[in-house]
Amino acid sequence: MKNSGIPIDDVVAALAAKRARDVPWAEGRAFGMVYDGGDAVHEVAERVAAMYLHENALNTVAFPSLGEIQREVVRWTADLLAGPDSASGFLTSGGTESILCAVKAAREHARHERGIVQPEMVLADSAHAAFHKAAHLFGVTPVVVPVGEDWRADTDAMIAAIEPNTALVVTSAVSYPQGVIDDIASIATAAADRGVLCHVDACMGGFFLPFMERLGHDVDPWNFAVEGVTSISADVHKLGYAPKGASVICYRDKALRAHQTFVFDDWLGGFYASPNLQGSRAGLPMAMAWGVMAHLGVDGYVERTAAVLGVTDRMRAEVRATPGLVVLGDPTAHIFCIAADAEHAAPIDPFALGDAMAARGWFHDRQTPPDSLHLTLSFGNVDQVDAWIEDLREVAPSIGNHQVDDRSTNYATLE
Ligand SMILES: *Cc1c(COP(=O)(O)O)cnc(C)c1O
Repeated sequence: MKNSGIPIDDVVAALAAKRARDVPWAEGRAFGMVYDGGDAVHEVAERVAAMYLHENALNTVAFPSLGEIQREVVRWTADLLAGPDSASGFLTSGGTESILCAVKAAREHARHERGIVQPEMVLADSAHAAFHKAAHLFGVTPVVVPVGEDWRADTDAMIAAIEPNTALVVTSAVSYPQGVIDDIASIATAAADRGVLCHVDACMGGFFLPFMERLGHDVDPWNFAVEGVTSISADVHKLGYAPKGASVICYRDKALRAHQTFVFDDWLGGFYASPNLQGSRAGLPMAMAWGVMAHLGVDGYVERTAAVLGVTDRMRAEVRATPGLVVLGDPTAHIFCIAADAEHAAPIDPFALGDAMAARGWFHDRQTPPDSLHLTLSFGNVDQVDAWIEDLREVAPSIGNHQVDDRSTNYATLE
């Protein structure tokens, strides 16, 4: 930073220049990271942002509007998750924080209700990396179980891994890597039989599966309607279409939620309580989440879900019809991944495909194992899908047996 500041116009121009190399998500050609709800969503978020740019949700006595906003967003979300009247939760800054809170609450529950001092957490290797972050931070030992041939958590192995000191069993609806739903009914019921909590990671599915159900699609049991499910994370900043910084962690009842809250009453600064991991807490993403949800309503989400499902199904069909490529598993929501067809005489290297599509302006995240391209669809992609299909038809046959040397799948911020 210089000693003398620069004029506001220069600030804006400098940032505009920095953004030039960022992924141009608004063009609808990136399949992840920014989930775009369209122009009306941008307008409501921007107008709410102008009102709530400076507010602090640390103290909802000083800012009662943010307390109300939190209660309403949590209740609306709990309803989408088939939460009972007793369901309660908090807004957090994102899926990772919701997951951290759920794991911390499970550890406290195990300690105080079951006397467990060395807690374990059972999860499949499809479960989001945020659970390993939680295990690392909170001293919970992860017990990792493989996925089956359908890329869902291996149900028998999950159940067999539950031990007397298991604090939490983790399931996904839908999983991030392949977009599939675990056998939550069987796993959660087995956990409940042993007095163990079961979390459903619906960071991706929480704002998509409810609307698929309303559209008449069969969705495997995944929410609080399954008796043994004790907590669910659902990201408003993914398919809830709110700008980044908003997720809901929801518990079946207040007693479970109480294990998440931190309270400290022996400080010169006075009584201190905080619901999640943050101290000072931006009111901005909370208010934008409220604004976007209130504006869209269930109908707005159902309409967007129908459009997204329609194009995702067409894309999956196109990949399956392309010699040398496969879709892994049988994902039915808005996520899938593209891998080489090992059974085919000439499997296509998905990373070579990704690079060739990138040359035409498409952005797919790489993931492994196995090497594959990840796609999460949202409303902002819908109009681009005809062009994507056309490009895939042209690009895929031209790749032949070309393999790219760079096999990295960097998905990280290390600086
Ligand atoms: C995105 C995601 C997370 C983590 O959420 P962040 O908002 O990135 O912190 C967790 N689980 C699943 C299934 C996700 O898709």
